[in-house]
Amino acid sequence: MPVPFVFRLRDRFGPVQVGNVWGDSGVTGYIAVCEADRCGWSSEYSSYAAACIAARNHRCRIPQH
Ligand SMILES: [Zn+2]
Repeated sequence: MPVPFVFRLRDRFGPVQVGNVWGDSGVTGYIAVCEADRCGWSSEYSSYAAACIAARNHRCRIPQH
């Protein structure tokens, strides 16, 4: 069964985007995703603040341009 998943960007910290995760019943959580190619870091949180802190603290191993 496919899980409804919609990412909506809310904030950005360097290469990391923080957004809402939308499901059937509205916002179901928050996710921080690094957009650097080949990094692949992402993490889900139940609170927006936690997602922002994680995004700020992400030390990307991919060189930024
Ligand atoms: Zn990264």
